[in-house]
Amino acid sequence: MNTREWIDLEKNVLLHTYARPDFVISQGRENVLYDLEGRAYLDFVSGIAVCALGHVDEECVDALTQQAEKLWHCSNLYHTESQVKLAQLLVESTFADKVFFCNSGTEAVEAAIKFARKWGRAERGGAFQILSLKRSFHGRTYGALSATGQPNLQQGFEPMLPGFVFADFNDLLSVEKALSPSTCAILVEPVQGEGGIYPASVEFLQGIRRLCDRENVLLILDEIQCGFGRTGYFCAHEFYDIYPDMMTCAKPIAGGLPLGAVLLRDAVAACVEPGDHGSTFGGGPLVTAVAHRVLSRLKDQQFLSEVRNKGNYLMSQLNILQQVQSHIVEVRGQGLMIAIQLAVDPKQVIQHCAAEGLLICKAGGQAIRFLPSLTVTLPQIDNAVNILSRVLSRIGENGDTSS
Ligand SMILES: *Cc1c(COP(=O)(O)O)cnc(C)c1O
Repeated sequence: MNTREWIDLEKNVLLHTYARPDFVISQGRENVLYDLEGRAYLDFVSGIAVCALGHVDEECVDALTQQAEKLWHCSNLYHTESQVKLAQLLVESTFADKVFFCNSGTEAVEAAIKFARKWGRAERGGAFQILSLKRSFHGRTYGALSATGQPNLQQGFEPMLPGFVFADFNDLLSVEKALSPSTCAILVEPVQGEGGIYPASVEFLQGIRRLCDRENVLLILDEIQCGFGRTGYFCAHEFYDIYPDMMTCAKPIAGGLPLGAVLLRDAVAACVEPGDHGSTFGGGPLVTAVAHRVLSRLKDQQFLSEVRNKGNYLMSQLNILQQVQSHIVEVRGQGLMIAIQLAVDPKQVIQHCAAEGLLICKAGGQAIRFLPSLTVTLPQIDNAVNILSRVLSRIGENGDTSS
């Protein structure tokens, strides 16, 4: 079947929840994707910050095939080796004392909400409320959606789960005002991802940590998008020199396989008992075997310092472009998590970039996101910026393309 036929068939059989461009991706290798017609695309989306080591990484293929010959699944009713090995790696390389595994980001957030409420019941007189931030994104299931600070994503699906309040991002006073005796936790993305790549200020995140300590409230960091090397630190919060009480993880953790996790301090872990929460698939042998290989590489200090350098380079190239390109309103981000705010329709820019062989994606409001694999090279960064520059200069003042 050709591209047209696949897309027509898809229209008939697949629920339409995504507006997709008109090519069919069939292969990936390192930082490049290929469509059915054999066209190559430089991938600056990496599966939405998932494929941190690029596509079809050799070592990950080894880990996956070795485990596939041994054991695929036996449920969480039994002890298995690779799950424990991965938890050990996470505990050794982060603030965490304990780890809970699930299958996705939204499930990690659901679990964190449940654990926070269990803790609030035991340790804070029944406090159950979660204080979240405006413009945040935490997932699509009801708990995580209720915690998401974007009313347009909730529209049509009300009522939301009760017990969520929202404060302004990077405004400590607003957080302080929203705090009440019923608050059990504050939930924050150190760098807001879907909302448009907005890094928290150091004063804001450190201020929240102090507030949580003073008021005996948990700090939950959602590092599903910004964690595990994306910002140039193994955990994004290392840059802020603070520790959370819980952290939600997912996207890059298993290099493209579905795995989510909640990292917990013992003070919270102590409130969770057998039977309180679970997952049939969570942390299965295949995904944890691959995740161990992925995280062993992402936590390497040399690797992380290269991510910071490459991120700084991309940021500086975009800043230079901004000076000659009036369509760029702002460049912001951290590490290899960067967005540019546009004065023109981002959809059009994304479409034209794809036609020129560069994949980028939208981020909240009028912005486009750069989330290349962390193994991206400097020449690939140059290439991407050149394509973007060409596309932007072709788009006229009113957003029309002149050629
Ligand atoms: C993507 C994302 C989620 C949801 O993860 P899914 O795996 O899509 O459920 C939650 N929080 C943040 C910060 C994310 O970027």
